[in-house]
Amino acid sequence: MTCKICSSRINLFQRAIILNKYNVDYFKCDRCGFIQTEKPYWINEAYQNSINISDTGIITRNICLSKQTAVIIYFFFNKNAIFLDFAGGYGILTRLMRDIGFDFYWYDLYSKNLFARGFEYAESIKDIELITAFECIEHFVEPLIEIEKMTKITKSILFTTELIPASNPKPEEWWYYGLEHGQHVCLYTKKSLEYIAQKFKLQLLSYGSIHLLTDKYINQNYFTLLIKFAKYIAPVIVSRNMKSKIHSDMELIRSRK
Ligand SMILES: [Zn+2]
Repeated sequence: MTCKICSSRINLFQRAIILNKYNVDYFKCDRCGFIQTEKPYWINEAYQNSINISDTGIITRNICLSKQTAVIIYFFFNKNAIFLDFAGGYGILTRLMRDIGFDFYWYDLYSKNLFARGFEYAESIKDIELITAFECIEHFVEPLIEIEKMTKITKSILFTTELIPASNPKPEEWWYYGLEHGQHVCLYTKKSLEYIAQKFKLQLLSYGSIHLLTDKYINQNYFTLLIKFAKYIAPVIVSRNMKSKIHSDMELIRSRK
């Protein structure tokens, strides 16, 4: 077996029990540190509930991410363009971004759109400025194929994933392995993300668990500063200068009937 990111040789790293019953092998790449499970034969079962029951942080995380996304778009991208929330789950982020004033659309193969109905992405929607892909690249069985699909839509992808801590925790020592839901089949290091950036000839910016791949030049310190202080900057600068779509969306939906 080879690394799904850099094609180097991988070694058996650990074994762990997924979904309380499957004994699964985890492999680690010598070169980029990326960890992948064996072929995930349990995946259909893992997605019986696409939003896993232990995800108690879902609302707080989306509110926080909406502010971080808002500042990144506002300061680095065309704020009047169209955006796509890939693997958008229940549509919480799409709705929050529209509430601030950004023209966001929802896309998800596995989840039901509950909060952003009427704003589903279709391939006819062109000129996407940026994709957000939060908490999904660790779910990809073939990450490079999925990322390549995204880069065909836009060269700017803002995404989150927790990076493997330097202490190299075993599956039972780190919550992000998600053994109880079995959906996290890929775990990344900064180095593995750098390989991805290199492969698609993009710049990687990274702060904590939030990362941006883009073909634009963006200063890393500026990126860090904006992410760090997004909760103050978003309401004071971004929301005040954007026009919320709460009302206009209601009128738009009503006019469609
Ligand atoms: Zn590798």
